[in-house]
Amino acid sequence: MTDHTPDNPLKAAERDIIALGIAAAAVIMLIGTGGSVLPQAVRALLGEGGRPDVLLVNALLLNIALIIFGWRRYRELTREIEVRRQAEARAQMLAATDPLTQCLNRRSMLEATEELRARAAVRGEAVAYCMVDLDNFKQINDMHGHSAGDAVLVMMCDRIRTLLPREARLARLGGDEFAFVMPYPAGHADRVDDLVIRLFESMAQPFRMPELTVDLTMSIGLAADHDADGTIGLVVDAATLMHRADMALYHAKKQGRNRYFWFEASMESELRFRNQLETGIRRGLARGEFVPFYEQQVDLETGALVGFEMLARWRSPQLGLISPDIFVPIAEEIGLINDMSERLMEQAFADAREWDDALTLSINISPVQLRDPWFAQRLLKKLVAANFPPRRLEIEITESCLHENIGLVRSMIMSLRNQGVQISLDDFGTGYSSLEQLRNLPFDRIKIDRSFVSELKEPGNRSRIVEAIISLGRGLDLPLTAEGVEDEEILNALKAMGRLKAQGYFYGQPEDADAVRARLRAAGKLTGAPGDPAAQQRAGGEDGPTLYRIARP
Ligand code: C2E
Ligand code: CA
Ligand code: CA
Repeated sequence: MTDHTPDNPLKAAERDIIALGIAAAAVIMLIGTGGSVLPQAVRALLGEGGRPDVLLVNALLLNIALIIFGWRRYRELTREIEVRRQAEARAQMLAATDPLTQCLNRRSMLEATEELRARAAVRGEAVAYCMVDLDNFKQINDMHGHSAGDAVLVMMCDRIRTLLPREARLARLGGDEFAFVMPYPAGHADRVDDLVIRLFESMAQPFRMPELTVDLTMSIGLAADHDADGTIGLVVDAATLMHRADMALYHAKKQGRNRYFWFEASMESELRFRNQLETGIRRGLARGEFVPFYEQQVDLETGALVGFEMLARWRSPQLGLISPDIFVPIAEEIGLINDMSERLMEQAFADAREWDDALTLSINISPVQLRDPWFAQRLLKKLVAANFPPRRLEIEITESCLHENIGLVRSMIMSLRNQGVQISLDDFGTGYSSLEQLRNLPFDRIKIDRSFVSELKEPGNRSRIVEAIISLGRGLDLPLTAEGVEDEEILNALKAMGRLKAQGYFYGQPEDADAVRARLRAAGKLTGAPGDPAAQQRAGGEDGPTLYRIARP
């Protein structure tokens, strides 16, 4: 960089100081010289006196020139300062706002909230912080492209803005996440509720663009710096408010989206517990704490054991034995379900290879796993690696799998079936599978959900739904399994309905691999898998003579 660079502020300032110094000196000199030279010059012009001293006149002219120079420099300087001030303000504004929607951005929202709180506090008002998250925005982006998504965001912001009070501040925190902060009269949180309800009404109107119309829903979490009765709660700063609104938003999402919640203290402990679970699941997976349990599946007519359904359990050293209803949804959410399921399958294949070769193994597959286009290939590879015959394996998928990419699910089912794997439709009747899908997708079996089977316990031992599903299965030539057979009453009611497979607590609770092994050994249905010395050792380690069949490769 050279000295001529106009942007060198130090040099420029030096020059300005020198220029102003010269001008100031010139003014002082003007007062000194001007006092005597000017009257002389005036008199000479009027013809009343002699010519003034040339030297002094020159000095006077030089003075005047210097003053003009200084004045101009001063004007330039103030102009420059103004330009710089405007540029700085613009840069600050750009740094504080979201370029697409012109809302504040995440960085500036904290400060804006603190400012609003301070102003509201002076007037004795409360402040509500509101987190807004769009429920289905990713779909709009994926289906219609990012420019359509951007247009929707801009329209949505306009809708929020028109409803907000003048003093409120609106921010875009990220992709489809927004927040606003607004003052309201302490003790009247219902004003905020009213506004939020109007916001939901406004969002319910379709977003119309020239080529398409989209529908949007949102979830909202709210937190206030005052209690409901209008008193100021324990220390809440802007960061705490935001965090609380975030927790309320999370709760709204969990409750099924398209709704809003005010923060409550219980949400914090729920979230803490969830975080603990999440950490526990990650750690437990690395430590092999997830184990397969097995539930017997029985031929209803003969009572013969035909196979087992594998049900995952978490043996947590801190929490005890945990049901999959708790950890499967979390594992799905944090992207661990594939990993978890594959490890469980490996264990289950190893366990089931010790069982009689005629016994089947059913495995539950989550919809999240079916999104992976390579799922079928990976599963088949695992079967080969475990030397487990595909004909003994049954995959259970629920109806919710069928909402997603039906083409993908279909081709997956086809490639698994081609290898001999059987496919069951689990929890039938609880989802929304259409008869059309049932006819077109090549299922091997329908499992009647236990909520319907339990109706058979009611007086009269009838369930129209169970009867309807059974006749549907017959019509489609699909074998059926009834889940949740808890007692003899249900068992007898089902027996009267025809040939079924059944499972449930009547036949015993799901049990671990060791218990299953002992059960099968007693029934003479255990084989020592070749190449599995641990199994051989376990199988031979018992007292008494037992006949073990060698499993076929
Ligand atoms: P599901 O596939 O419907 O499994 C049957 C559930 O009903 C099991 O609960 C089982 O213990 C329970 N059950 C069995 N017989 C009876 C009965 O007679 N009465 C009653 N009231 N309940 C009975 P569990 O083991 O807690 O599993 C819950 C759900 O978790 C399963 O429902 C299944 O959808 C899912 N799940 C289990 N293991 C896995 C897994 O490895 N992967 C995936 N993705 N999901 C799994
Ligand atoms: Ca199942
Ligand atoms: Ca089921």
